[in-house]
Formats: sequence, C-alpha cells, structure tokens
Amino acid sequence: MDNNQNNNQWLPIIHLNQCVGCGSCISKCPTDALARRGGKAALVRPHLCIYCADCETLCPYNAIELPYLVCLDPNQQGKVNS
Ligand code: SF4
Ligand code: SF4
Repeated sequence: MDNNQNNNQWLPIIHLNQCVGCGSCISKCPTDALARRGGKAALVRPHLCIYCADCETLCPYNAIELPYLVCLDPNQQGKVNS
C-alpha cells in the first residue's frame, strides 16, 4: 500500500513493486514506525514517523520515497535558479 499523507501528516511512500523486504529500513528507523508485512516493508505506525528520511536514504532499491522534502543546499542559499 502506498501512503503519502494522513491527517495532514506527510508520510513515506513505499513502492511495494520495488521492495525486496531486506529489512534495512525497518532496523534503522529511529521510531519503529516500519515493520515487515507480507515480506515487504510497511509503515505500520505512521503516527510515529518523524519524516527523518533515513529509510529513503538507505534503501538500496529506491523503494521508499518521501513525497515532500525540502533540501536546502547551504551553497545555494540566497541564489535563485533560472
Ligand atoms: S530497505 Fe528498501 S528494499 Fe529493504 S525492506 Fe526497506 S523498502 Fe524494502
Ligand atoms: S522517515 Fe524516518 S521515522 Fe519515518 S519511517 Fe522513515 S526512517 Fe522511520
């Protein structure tokens, strides 16, 4: 199941067609928001997700995506891309 927003809380999207159930994201999630369900990663405790992006960063299969994430590059602050 894909998730993106629940009760105004932005949540990671898990692309089940790409997840191989390796468990890396589950073991590294700092809040235990993830668990394995049916051999795949699942956001079983969405209320615990702090949107830290660790799961997205470490997934070797790009199976987790944070749909809304602002990244500020300190080298680009104050500059406007055209
Ligand atoms: S790290 Fe990626 S492939 Fe592994 S269980 Fe998590 S989402 Fe699935
Ligand atoms: S964004 Fe952070 S807190 Fe949320 S599921 Fe991923 S690793 Fe866990």
